[in-house]
Amino acid sequence: MLQDKDRIFTNLYGMHDRTLAGAQARGHWDGTAGIIKKGRDWIIDQMKASGLRGRGGAGFPTGLKWSFMPKESDGRPSYLVINADESEPGTCKDREIMRHDPHTLIEGALIASFAMNANTCYIYIRGEYIREREALQAAIDEAYDKGMIGKNAAGSGWDFDLFLHHGAGAYICGEETALLESLEGKKGMPRMKPPFPAGAGLYGCPTTVNNVESIAVVPTILRRGPEWFAGFGRANNAGTKIFGISGHVNNPCVVEEAMSITFEELIDRHCGGIRGGWDNLKAVIPGGSSVPCVTGENIRDAVMDFDGLREKGSSLGTAAVIVMDNSTDIIKAIWRLSKFYKHESCGQCTPCREGTGWMMRVMDRLVKGEAHIDEIDMLLSVTKQVEGHTICALGDAAAWPIQGLIKNFRGEIEDRIRVNKQGQVSVAAE
Ligand code: SF4
Repeated sequence: MLQDKDRIFTNLYGMHDRTLAGAQARGHWDGTAGIIKKGRDWIIDQMKASGLRGRGGAGFPTGLKWSFMPKESDGRPSYLVINADESEPGTCKDREIMRHDPHTLIEGALIASFAMNANTCYIYIRGEYIREREALQAAIDEAYDKGMIGKNAAGSGWDFDLFLHHGAGAYICGEETALLESLEGKKGMPRMKPPFPAGAGLYGCPTTVNNVESIAVVPTILRRGPEWFAGFGRANNAGTKIFGISGHVNNPCVVEEAMSITFEELIDRHCGGIRGGWDNLKAVIPGGSSVPCVTGENIRDAVMDFDGLREKGSSLGTAAVIVMDNSTDIIKAIWRLSKFYKHESCGQCTPCREGTGWMMRVMDRLVKGEAHIDEIDMLLSVTKQVEGHTICALGDAAAWPIQGLIKNFRGEIEDRIRVNKQGQVSVAAE
């Protein structure tokens, strides 16, 4: 279990002072100029050695991503863009950083921007996060007032500007290239890749897009050393991680833990167990709504990291753990996600635009049992035609929950169809 002395986020629950003075009292903004003076290569090497993988869902190694940015400018500026669009259903971890521990993010933004030769950083925050924007903006204003950012930021000799941009509430703007389009004032529609943002990102300039948590952990890693961070979790799955556990546990919570903790330990230690006991656990979506669900039986011994959840046929994603007990209508739960992805499709590529609607309409009927059994395989085949055939990952995100449902709960879908055929259906989609 992660001990308090090893927690990076010391004010995740807002119990302490979130101003600059409070953050400094907890060890943040300590020796920032000294870190910057060690130079770009040193910072990037340390980040690589820490083993940090992106905390936004894809899990790409952070230090490696930074190393893709040009070392010398060709006349264009470089940008760091922080993705605070956190809109994946079930995910609410970055929110706690921004409203209660915002200086971890601001200090991280300064150091990461310096490491990528960027004098300017944008934070793109989700439209619905109004109080979070207010808290973060207040912290940014204070950091400017006290000289931590701006000209000669924190006495480092580096000039650094940080802008907070408020989105309008579209899920797709969490996709990095849609986010860049939106930041430029256009419709949030994903771009084709290549070119990748490191070559041509914001305003056609070299850009790195990182998740809030990935940036907020940077200063502490550099202060305590990469070995310390790499000491948590298994090889290739290093570090501490914020988990957000919702649904049918006794105490839903957001908690920082060591990676590679088992599912059972995570739930028993921090959530007071499953509602109604372990035998009452039906299914878990372990990484935010876009990843396949895992059955209660299969998840219990899961190692909560990138590799562990892949072995279970799912993914760590954003570590937003959605727990469902036996009272859950799992077909209806996944139908609700299909409706969400259909609503959030930006519509620019055909498999996603048409496929999400098609999948949702079949799910409408499966919830009521008003389908033929062979339509289950037809639906599965449509998910395979959407998966991997779209411009961005929203197509995959719409396909995977249904694939998880069919893989794990086919019997339940078939039973409902049979019951409906006998005229006994009792479940209706709303
Ligand atoms: Fe838009 Fe969907 Fe295509 Fe992504 S996959 S670009 S959301 S239509």
